[in-house]
Amino acid sequence: MNIFLHRDDLRTHDNKALKKASENGKVLPVYIDDPRISERTGRNKKAFREKNLQKLDEFYREKGSGLIYREANTSDQLENLIKEFEVDKIFFNRSYTPVKRRIESEILSFEVEARVFKDRLLVEPVELSKEYGTFSPFYREWKKIEKDRKHGRPNNFAKVDVEKFRPKTKVGIDLPAAGESAAITKWEEFKDERLQSYKDKRDDVGEPESVSRLSMYYGSGVLGLRKVLEDIEELIEQSDDSNYIRNFAKYRNELAWREFFYQVLWHNPETVQNNYRDFDNEIKWKNDSQEFEAWKKGMTGVPFVDAGIRELRETGYMHNRTRQNVASFLTKHLMIDWRKGARFFRKHLIDHDTASNTGGWQWAASTGTDSVSIRIFNPVKQGRKYDTHAEYIKRHIPELRGLDPNSIHNWVEMSQKERNKYDIDYPNPIINFNQRYHVGKKMFENALGK
Ligand SMILES: Cc1cc2nc3c(=O)[nH]c(=O)nc-3n(C[C@H](O)[C@H](O)[C@H](O)COP(=O)(O)OP(=O)(O)OC[C@H]3O[C@@H](n4cnc5c(N)ncnc54)[C@H](O)[C@@H]3O)c2cc1C
Repeated sequence: MNIFLHRDDLRTHDNKALKKASENGKVLPVYIDDPRISERTGRNKKAFREKNLQKLDEFYREKGSGLIYREANTSDQLENLIKEFEVDKIFFNRSYTPVKRRIESEILSFEVEARVFKDRLLVEPVELSKEYGTFSPFYREWKKIEKDRKHGRPNNFAKVDVEKFRPKTKVGIDLPAAGESAAITKWEEFKDERLQSYKDKRDDVGEPESVSRLSMYYGSGVLGLRKVLEDIEELIEQSDDSNYIRNFAKYRNELAWREFFYQVLWHNPETVQNNYRDFDNEIKWKNDSQEFEAWKKGMTGVPFVDAGIRELRETGYMHNRTRQNVASFLTKHLMIDWRKGARFFRKHLIDHDTASNTGGWQWAASTGTDSVSIRIFNPVKQGRKYDTHAEYIKRHIPELRGLDPNSIHNWVEMSQKERNKYDIDYPNPIINFNQRYHVGKKMFENALGK
């Protein structure tokens, strides 16, 4: 009998280590909620994970088995299970964050043979010829590396008598549908209906369905990446419309961004905490607590930024375009340390992923892998460009629903007298927007020794 340890792979389709375990004997499926990981997991993500664990348990029960679930230190629990069952080997998929790497090395030091597989990434950092600090050259090599084919679902499970798994984490948001069938259906609908316009429409924040919203499924490993990549490559191969091909390829490119950030984290595990880039001088963050509170509540008086934060608080998700803007605004205009923002995201995001979150925050804060030295997003211009009709802003800021799109986008720039005319309960900008742009830029220039 082999233990298969679910980690960031809450699925049975296209799951490499699970498939390998089943080829070598009956599988005993296990999930261990290790406090070293759960203390770093936000409630929304935890609740979503539990819903997925419940689906997994249901699947295993249908096969006459069940999911063994424990809340404890991974190594201790595995040792108990090895004593309790006649375990030949332990199978699991590799994870790449510093804590999960530590847990992996503990398991690999057991007397019982443990086998670990590539599954969470299409290309692992060690398969690349070198470490990359920018995306484009990384992507050129990433594309050339041959990827594994997807794996079928195993059907060879050990009989165990375990209690039904019941989710217990309560949250105040509506969670997306859980389970691999839901994830596959979502992917197939997106592929059939919207992938062909993904590149053209992905920045249209007013249209929530222009992006796939699959990040929480990739994050918890509910959807297999090999399956998605094979589908995309098949579409590219079969299509003779160059416009469609461009759109299909963009999705593959975005999946590679995810892998790029894993590659950065793998080589630089300390960047979860430390700046990726070297600075001549320390960055003199302002870290004003009132401004940080206003940002966290979506009450900065900058509508595009506030809409993003409120989307996050209400749904556990935020569009990529607004993630970039709220992160840039926090670090450049408010001059607040990116680590505070990254922790706030971790608390709320259902799709929180250490590599993408750290990478995304450091990129937007100009402490990371961006090739532009100091990039400062202008959230007013960005709002006008990507949410022209202010649909996104109105969706998330009810106070502004009575205003026409122009007035909403002009909110920061209009005079106090004009704002007063509207008599609405939405704040004035908490900072002098233009002046702060220059102060924030100066803070970074000083740090860079310019
Ligand atoms: C400050 C900041 C923090 C972020 N934190 C996270 C996070 O914790 N978890 C997370 O999954 N993504 C994070 N991202 C990346 C990106 O915003 C999300 O992956 C994306 O918005 C998810 O929505 P989607 O699935 O509809 O994306 P789609 O546009 O449909 O893209 C498809 C998939 O490609 C990947 N992807 C797309 N854009 C990126 C990107 N810029 N970086 C890495 N992967 C990408 C994701 O896996 C995504 O699901 C962050 C970005 C920023 C700027």
